[in-house]
Amino acid sequence: MRRYKGSKYNYFQTNDRGELLIMNMRTEGKVKVTGEEAEAVKELLDNSVKEIDETKECYNQLIKKGMFVREEEDEVKLLMLKQNEMIYGTDTLSVTIMPTNDCDFRCSYCYENHMEDYMDEETEERVLLFLGKKIARCKQLRLGWFGGEALLCKERVLRMSKKINEMCRRYRVPIYGEISTNGYNLDVDTFKELVRNHITEFQICIDGPKQCHNQTRPHCTDKDSYTRIIENLKNIRDNVKMGMFKIALRTNITPGVRPYLDEHIEEMKRLFGDDHRFMLSFQCVRDWGGDNIQQDMIVDDERTEYIDTYKTVNEVGMSSAGKLSFAPIVGNCTACRKNGYLIDFKGELHKCSLAYHNKEHRDVDTIGYINEMGDEVVDESKLATWIVNNDDISKGCYDCVLFPYCMGGHCPYSRNITKTKTCNKYILSNVSEHVVEQDKEGKIPYWN
Ligand code: SF4
Ligand code: SF4
Repeated sequence: MRRYKGSKYNYFQTNDRGELLIMNMRTEGKVKVTGEEAEAVKELLDNSVKEIDETKECYNQLIKKGMFVREEEDEVKLLMLKQNEMIYGTDTLSVTIMPTNDCDFRCSYCYENHMEDYMDEETEERVLLFLGKKIARCKQLRLGWFGGEALLCKERVLRMSKKINEMCRRYRVPIYGEISTNGYNLDVDTFKELVRNHITEFQICIDGPKQCHNQTRPHCTDKDSYTRIIENLKNIRDNVKMGMFKIALRTNITPGVRPYLDEHIEEMKRLFGDDHRFMLSFQCVRDWGGDNIQQDMIVDDERTEYIDTYKTVNEVGMSSAGKLSFAPIVGNCTACRKNGYLIDFKGELHKCSLAYHNKEHRDVDTIGYINEMGDEVVDESKLATWIVNNDDISKGCYDCVLFPYCMGGHCPYSRNITKTKTCNKYILSNVSEHVVEQDKEGKIPYWN
């Protein structure tokens, strides 16, 4: 027998059969408890110290999943340790490449200044030299493609992805690759080539049904980009047999898009609902900067929007929040990492695309550059502004069930630079849907 207490970070949710679903936010461990046992288990997992018989399988499971912690264990310190490893460790190399600032869309809420800036051959060589040196010293690569619209320079993206993949193979470094694209130029061949080179996570925005999308996300010359994007996605659905990719179809929610969401979700379910490689995600539009955003594009209450939207998704049975990750510290942006870089078309090193496009913050965001030898030249004082947390975490955060994910403010731009940090409690509605969806998919085992 040893003395244990319930973790601060157990999230409780009841399913429609009255069963208790528990997810520990520090370990992502999950269990399910029958309705009859629910109250007793909740009490068992409160913060008081109890003698627990570890040899009993049911208790052992709760211990292994971090739902019970030893009396003397300080979960906040354990999380801080992990966070420091994330910030200062060099095992993970996180690189997002923006090969162009240009884009063929003019989305109504976009914060970017679209210029016809494209990466050239010499910069490509420098970036690859830099990556070769960094990959040789890391244990995993997180690679992202971003823009502008990265696929406006499709050949460069494919060529560089292939070379990066070869380097990673040479050093036996796994790649976790992703791309944010408007999907307009994502034909099947391009898609397959990206997946072959481990770019397996795709984020494509579709803002509602055809008319709504075409109005909110207008293409520069094509009045109906919706049809082409949907055709591209259907071709991928029907012609790509590989299973190891994920396409998140993201809808940016504005008050204008809101009335069409149910229709949109039904249509996405009809087209992609039977294919587990597709999922829906949602993001309420915010004032991300730039001159385009208008106050009437911002919803009054984000949390309510997510609750309502995920409820509809759940009802139609489309894959969504269940595929989100709530792994601890993952919510912290890679701009927090010392080994995290946003590389622009000139080979400059940056931290955050919002700061990059903001005139006032562009300078602090430009933390350095890659020289002709492929070495980084970094201004340490700017780097410190980003990664050293100079904001006191409020006491309430330590006891917040979201703390393992949010760590009291996951965005270093708002925390350290604009000083506009806000609480992220709205994420709770996503956690709630995540747990419910995982349960529906049979992924949560009974505790005994
Ligand atoms: S706004 Fe914040 S969370 Fe987003 S990329 Fe910039 S630093 Fe990261
Ligand atoms: S900022 Fe809000 S959501 Fe994040 S840990 Fe603090 S109280 Fe929780």
